[in-house]
This record gives sequence, C-alpha cells and structure tokens, in this order.
Amino acid sequence: MTRIIAVANQKGGVGKTTTSVNLSASLAMSGGRVLLIDLDPQGNATMGSGIDKNEVALSIYDWLLEDVPLRDIVQKCSGSFELLPSNLDLTAAEVNLLQADGREFQMREKLATQASPYDYVIIDCPPSLSILTVNALMAANGVLIPMQCEYYALEGLSALLETIEGVRGHGNPDLQIEGILRTMYDPRNGLTRDVSRQLIRYFGDEVFRTVVPRNVRLAEAPSHGLPAILYDRTSRGAVAYMALAGELRQKHQQETIGGDDIDTVAGGPPESGEVPTVGQDGS
Ligand code: ATP
Ligand code: MG
Repeated sequence: MTRIIAVANQKGGVGKTTTSVNLSASLAMSGGRVLLIDLDPQGNATMGSGIDKNEVALSIYDWLLEDVPLRDIVQKCSGSFELLPSNLDLTAAEVNLLQADGREFQMREKLATQASPYDYVIIDCPPSLSILTVNALMAANGVLIPMQCEYYALEGLSALLETIEGVRGHGNPDLQIEGILRTMYDPRNGLTRDVSRQLIRYFGDEVFRTVVPRNVRLAEAPSHGLPAILYDRTSRGAVAYMALAGELRQKHQQETIGGDDIDTVAGGPPESGEVPTVGQDGS
C-alpha cells in the first residue's frame, strides 16, 4: 500500500521543504521506496535534492498538464529516493489547472494509477492554500503540518484545518492529520515551550513526539544538494528526521496490524518516551 503524505502549511518558511527532503531521504534510508513530489514553483525541494531546476527537461508541469507518465520524468537522487522535479513552469500549470474540469482531482487521478511502485509519496506543497495545495490534499492519505512554535503559528493553523475540513467534505473524507511537526525548535525559548504545550493540549497524539531542533546543518545541506543525512548524518537535524521517519513507520505499522501489507524495514522506531524526544536539552 502506498502512503501519500502532503507536507503543507500556508505559512512560508516553516520547514515544509526541509521536512519533505529529509523525511524522504530518511524513509528511503530505512528501505522504503519513496517518491518526493515538488509541488512548489520555487523548486526548492528539487534544488535541495541535488537536481538543477533550470536544467530539467521534463517536470511536474508535463505530468500534470501534458499527461507524460511519472516514470519518464522522475529522477533518482543521491538520497536514494526519486524526485518529480519542479520549476517556474508549474506557475503556468496552476493557471491552466484553474480552468480545467475536475481541477481539484488532477493529481489524485494520476497518482491512483502511477503511485504503486512506491511505499511513500511525499508532496512538498507551496506556501499557500492554492489549487496546487488542494490537489495535494485531495490526493493524500495524510497531511503532515510543519510548524514553528511561535506566537502567530496557531492562528495560521486554523485556516489550514478549515481547508482540510473542506477537502474532507468535497471528495477526500478519509484525509487524516498525519501529524503536527514542531520545527526549528529552541527549547531555551519560553514562548516556544508555551506554544508547544498548547499544541499538545489541543491536538494530543496528533503532535509528533519527534521535535526538529534548529540546526545549522539542516540549513547548509540544501546548498550542497544533499539531504542532511548524507551531508552530516550525525547532526542533530539528521538524527531528528531519522527519528521522525521511525515514528511515522511505527504509526502505520500499528494501523495495519492484522493486515498483510506491513513492509518491514530496517531500523526500529524511536523509543517511545517523553515529549520532546529530540532537541529538548538545547545542546
Ligand atoms: P516556503 O514556505 O518558502 O516553501 P518552507 O516552509 O518550505 O518555506 P524551508 O524552506 O524548509 O521552509 O525552511 C525555511 C528556511 O529555514 C530555509 O533556509 C531552511 O534551510 C531553514 N530551516 C528549516 N528548518 C530548519 C531547522 N530545523 N534548523 C535550521 N534551519 C532550518
Ligand atoms: Mg518550501
């Protein structure tokens, strides 16, 4: 069974792309077959995966609008996952999509017949609740929400949750919250700790136990076209994303217990424990 996860938050700069690239690499490192879809015309996930967005012959535009099959476009990345690259052409796709019949379902229809080679499809959404993000949410089984624990973060979250409700009511009733991921976490900051506590109070188990600390290696890695796990696998950022991949796999294994589609992968899930599991000491 393929698990399709949209990484979404309309707020800019919260760590969507960093999470998409590093989670893809971590899941692939653990033996999963992973497709990363760059759904942002900025092409940051493409560049961060080591593919020059200005050099790609075929991109997500050709998949969404020209019906070119996924297998003819995807590129193998050094992180051992496959990438559906993006660049500014996707802006044109967005305009054309707006005029198409069934415009919210273009991606879902294509993934329904083309996602089966993969265990995970991770979709890096743009910082908006545009037709592109709605396409991802319509196609997804779950939405992973990266957020920085700061003052306006919760306010932004309610608009996203309303969109998720809308998507559930208009064609994807089973869309789950995959989890809320606290990113760029600085435990020395009192406000961060307050917002984090509020998140856990409101969302309980929907908040990932894994916390991604603020870590310079995560910011440096994209300029080398590498996920952090290949750039510096001992860095706290890389360790956090490996833990996140473990937590995700553990969650899905629990959900499918009794089923026959459990894909056993190397490396165990993180120790279940206190919140947060990574980055709480500020070291
Ligand atoms: P956009 O909304 O523009 O698509 P985004 O939500 O995808 O942004 P990123 O591009 O992942 O956010 O991150 C924004 C910036 O913060 C980038 O420069 C990235 O390298 C940096 N960054 C992300 N996560 C961390 C982290 N945990 N520690 C340090 N820097 C980080
Ligand atoms: Mg991004």
